[in-house]
Amino acid sequence: MAGAHGRSGPAPGTSRAANEILHQLEQFNLTWDGTVLYQSTRLGAYAAALEQLRQRQLCYACTCTRPQIRAMGSIYNGHCRERAINSRRSSIRLKTVPQPMALTDVIQGDYSADIAADCGDFIIRRKDGFFAYQLAVVVDDEFQGVTDIVRGYDLLESTPRQIYLQQVLHYRTPRYGHIPVITDEKGEKLSKQRFAAPIAGKQALSLTHNVLQLLGQLPPALSDFANNAALLEWAVTHWDIQAIPKLATITAGNPR
Ligand SMILES: [Zn+2]
Repeated sequence: MAGAHGRSGPAPGTSRAANEILHQLEQFNLTWDGTVLYQSTRLGAYAAALEQLRQRQLCYACTCTRPQIRAMGSIYNGHCRERAINSRRSSIRLKTVPQPMALTDVIQGDYSADIAADCGDFIIRRKDGFFAYQLAVVVDDEFQGVTDIVRGYDLLESTPRQIYLQQVLHYRTPRYGHIPVITDEKGEKLSKQRFAAPIAGKQALSLTHNVLQLLGQLPPALSDFANNAALLEWAVTHWDIQAIPKLATITAGNPR
């Protein structure tokens, strides 16, 4: 599996940070199928989805300020729903309806949330013109035909909003699996910066071995593996999704 898919040069508008992430994945022998899709190349698709919602009157402009929203008790109360604002400096919110949005997470099990009660009408385009994460990922997942999403537990909370967006846009809903977030001894999420230093092959091997154990997998001793590619091959063959702890976070020792 190592290096099976090459990168075809940076896409227009890619940042150094994005390239660094891809480079780090390669150092872990983690590869990808197809070409990498960059959000910076997808603004037209996000705008089209937004326009569709606008025409169906499923979203509206909002000029409320942070202090105003705080005064509402931090959950947006729909203040601008009927105001018909015509201002460029406005965010766009999606109308929510009070109903439970349920999913069966393949790792964490059943999860449900009432997005109208829990977060209210939420922002799909920010005041500064940027499309919100929720809208961008939903549009891109549909475009790429993504069937399975595995990511950190910290994103479980946003999943009902994404499923709601998929429903109103008539998209398919992928399967979701949320793994525990690995934290340090202080309970802080291990940041990308923590791995920012160049990682030698040996370090990739021991880090992967460590992570597999934290995820409940039982790899043979580190010394049994010649390199990280061999360990990943073991992990793919022996992967046991049921063994992943049903937890929000797990604490790592020092992974170095
Ligand atoms: Zn408002």
